[in-house]
Amino acid sequence: MTIKLAILPGDGIGPEIIHQSLRVIDVLGRQGLSIETETAPVGGAGYDASGDPLPEATLALCESADAILFGAVGGPQYDTLPRAQRPEQGLLRLRKHFDLYANLRPAIVYPELAHASTLKTEVVAGLDILIVRELTGDIYFGQPRGIHTNADGLREGFDTMRYNEAEIRRIAITAFEAARKRGGRVCSVDKANVLETTQLWRDVVTETHADFADVELSHMYVDNAAMQLVRNPKQFDVIVTGNMFGDILSDAASMLTGSIGMLPSASINQKAFGMYEPIHGSAPDIAGKGLANPLASFLSLAMLLRYSVGQAEAADRIEAAVRQVLAQGLRTADIAEQGKPVVGLEAMGDAVVSALTAGA
Ligand code: NAD
Repeated sequence: MTIKLAILPGDGIGPEIIHQSLRVIDVLGRQGLSIETETAPVGGAGYDASGDPLPEATLALCESADAILFGAVGGPQYDTLPRAQRPEQGLLRLRKHFDLYANLRPAIVYPELAHASTLKTEVVAGLDILIVRELTGDIYFGQPRGIHTNADGLREGFDTMRYNEAEIRRIAITAFEAARKRGGRVCSVDKANVLETTQLWRDVVTETHADFADVELSHMYVDNAAMQLVRNPKQFDVIVTGNMFGDILSDAASMLTGSIGMLPSASINQKAFGMYEPIHGSAPDIAGKGLANPLASFLSLAMLLRYSVGQAEAADRIEAAVRQVLAQGLRTADIAEQGKPVVGLEAMGDAVVSALTAGA
């Protein structure tokens, strides 16, 4: 079976890191994994090519693919465009079009990089957690919403937190299935003591757990979860939560690692079709300078292989190659200790390609 990937490099450092990921894909190909790739513009590059951050041909390519490998979008030259033509619309429209409701964000601290965290080394070294955030519902999308003038003549803002049981069940299933591929534990985060919506969340997650008896389930209130993430993050394996709580907790968790250039993410739908991308942006400040860290893109590719195309073994090999180059001491500037030598994008790509080739 040939795996067909839509490659959307985007803007800024997006094309640079994606170029390195294509080299990794080449190695996998030489090692017997049949992968076909086709590249198309998105974001600012899409706007430049055809006046649209998600050109029709790009969407058609994604529809014909098994998964999307995405770079990053955005740049100051696009900041004054009307909202519909801004680069991030390409990303948002892809999420909506493919109903990518599950956002998976691992926060991993490689022991060699524990110094980059603002927390004590012993608290974060070896951290490996996965935050599963619901991405298409909750108070961010619930109706009614608005700002009006109330009966007392005061301006009043209101939003609606809303989830139905089907939306909760499918994200719970994603979390339980992900836990089966990892440490076998899910912590569901809610505010069931205060919010009706999240009482339903807790009920439905508990009901869904009946089909996943091999996975351990616990529940935690979001305020406690925020505290525990900073106090003792290694207690978690998979955290599953709604859109708003997940937005906040996943950013806090990624900062535990202190290295934005290392963190991948996935947004997937019910058919396990997904878009895989680093959590970082297009980094215009270093674009074109050959300084970007490509490791988050490699780790995004590993997630793609594991979650969308059933190639966990190839994913393991990429992750092992990344660990090996870190153990060898290679560091791009974003993850280097002060005063220690750094390598650029190309050299980091070379090292991972060599490690992957040798590891076959
Ligand atoms: P950013 O993530 O692009 O950069 C933040 C800082 O981290 C910068 O100093 C950058 O040099 C550094 N950095 C990021 N990735 C790195 C890497 N791989 N290697 C080394 N250093 C790295 O965030 P920003 O500066 O706030 O945003 C820049 C642009 O990216 C904006 O247009 C923003 O809208 C966009 N953005 C896009 C996405 C996305 O495509 N998913 C996500 C966030 C921001």
